[in-house]
Formats: sequence, structure tokens, C-alpha cells
Amino acid sequence: MITRPLNIGFELSNLCNLHCTHCIRGSHQKTLEHLDLSLFTRILDQANTLFNPVAVVFTGGEPLASALFPQAVEHLARRGMRYRFVTNGWLIPRHLPLLLRHKPMFVRISLSGASERTHDTQRGKSSFRRALVGAAVLLSKGIRAEMSMVVTRDSRFELADAVRLANEIGVAEFHFILPQPTPETALDGSDLSPSEWNTVTREIHVLAAQSAVPIGLDYGTFAPHPRPACNTMAQRQIYVDARGRVPFCCQLSRYGTGPEPILGDLNSESLATVFARGETTYSDFAAETSRLYQIGQRDAVDDYPCMSCARRNGRTAFMADFPTHAWAALGHLPA
Ligand code: SF4
Ligand code: SF4
Repeated sequence: MITRPLNIGFELSNLCNLHCTHCIRGSHQKTLEHLDLSLFTRILDQANTLFNPVAVVFTGGEPLASALFPQAVEHLARRGMRYRFVTNGWLIPRHLPLLLRHKPMFVRISLSGASERTHDTQRGKSSFRRALVGAAVLLSKGIRAEMSMVVTRDSRFELADAVRLANEIGVAEFHFILPQPTPETALDGSDLSPSEWNTVTREIHVLAAQSAVPIGLDYGTFAPHPRPACNTMAQRQIYVDARGRVPFCCQLSRYGTGPEPILGDLNSESLATVFARGETTYSDFAAETSRLYQIGQRDAVDDYPCMSCARRNGRTAFMADFPTHAWAALGHLPA
């Protein structure tokens, strides 16, 4: 047994009941795919022999919209495994009895803004109210509830409102996310520029220092080389998509355009094999990052780890169609 911890993310299905423009996987919902439950349990059993402890995280698609969610949680309960999930909150009341039988470590409810107007513009009428009710219901039942909010051109001036909301509701943590540009957001004009990302980052740090509720900023913001390995490249986490494949990273799964970078396929390979391949792949990627830096083959985008990573993995070529976009450099690799 490898005595190291592992977080395994699962996409039970790429289905979501909502359709946010900023969704990084929004371009890839033409065909609905669902994880095979027997593959899911095989992966759990393999993980339990290889890692300790193992924690499961369900992301989306919307996990609560997947018909597999109740069975998946029952399988985790039978194995005494810990889990958590990210949700838009709509379907929390429907699943409450299940969540009370096998409590998640926490539930993170995602927001598109800190006001009803901004959030519901993306997610539809009454979505904001449902998200808040979802958080309140969980908290009232003793289930740890966290929230996150994407910072787009629409929500950019709602940072302080978001922190106020987090403190009023009393969520356990609140996270901000600076979302990767997508073909849809580029068309929509809703992406913030790299310098706006930096300004927002500074504002969030100031707000965090004044907040009783812990405030986080998710990985991917300005971090020039050399920087510590992210959780994926340090192999603290792995992600399995609804087809049973392990992508290079959850952040690149169903994101952008071009062939997806896939580490392996758990339908035909063991978790140990794919994990070992990841070790080589990530160490080669890190070595190449250092080499490119040393020879000066880099540009300002490379100071943003996930955007640099997405570009080098061929996921951002769509940006070549937007030559005046603030992230236009994502459309080509530096010479
Ligand atoms: S609720 Fe989340 S998963 Fe669903 S479309 Fe919006 S961002 Fe994507
Ligand atoms: S996109 Fe790349 S840099 Fe960002 S978290 Fe994933 S593996 Fe790490």
C-alpha cells in the first residue's frame, strides 16, 4: 500500500440542469455521458488498496442531477469512505435524506454572483434563492456548507457583497474563482483581463483579512515561475471523467477545444498504472516548464499556471479567433 492520501474527483455525468456561460465545460454537453457504476466501485476498491486515506469529490456536470448520485453515495457509505461535492444547490432538498444518512465532509455551493440579479441572469429565475436555501438547509442539519463564486465581468464588483453574504449565512468557507476564458465567454465579452485578475486578487486578500469566515482564492491566479506544484501535478488528486478516463487535470477536462490530454483509461487500465504514468507525465511537464523559462520561450500568460498549462496542452487554440481579446496570447505558443 502507498501510505499517501488521495482525493479522487468523479464526474458522474456531464449533465447539468443549468447552463452558465462561464462554465468551463459548457462547450461539451452535446452528448450526455454517465459513469459506469461497476467501474466506479472498481476504482474505489483499487484506490483503497493503494492510498490512505482516500476522499471522493463529485464535481460536474451537476452531481445532484445525476441519477447515479444516490447509488454512488451508498457505495461510499458501505466502504466507510469520505466524500464531498460541488453543486449549484437546486437539488439539495431532494437529496437531503440521503445526505443525512451518509453525511458529506462538506458541500460547496457555487454562485455566479453575490446578488440575485447577477446570479439569476446566468442560472435562471429563483436560482439565487435556491442556492441560499440549500446552504441554510445544510447548516441547519449540521452539514458543513461552503460557497464559491466565479468572478466575471458581471460579478467583479460584488466581491465585498459576497464576503458579507458568507458572514451573514455563516458558511464554513467562501472561495473565489477566476474562471478560464472559454469560446462562450470570449464571445460574450465576460472575461476579465490578466491585469483585472491581479486587481481582483489584491481586493480579495484585503477582504479576506477582514472576514470572520475564511476566504479562499482558488488556484490559477498570478504565480510566476518557479512556483510549487499544484495539487494535480503533486498527485494529491486525480480526476475521472464520465467516460472512465483520467484527464491531465480536472481543469482541462471538457475544457476548450482540440483533443483532450488524457493520462489513461480506467476501463482498460488499473489505477496504479495510470497513477504511475501521471508521475512521469507531470515530472516531464515540470522539467519542460523550467527549460522554456530558461531559454526565454515564455510570455505573460505563463505567469498564470492554469492558463499556461491549458495552452501547452492545446486547449486554448480557440482564442486565435479573438485577436483583440485580453487573453489573445492563449491562441498561440510563444516563439
Ligand atoms: S451550475 Fe456549474 S456545472 Fe452547471 S452550467 Fe453552471 S458552472 Fe457549469
Ligand atoms: S490546469 Fe495545470 S496548473 Fe492548473 S491545476 Fe490543472 S494541472 Fe495544475
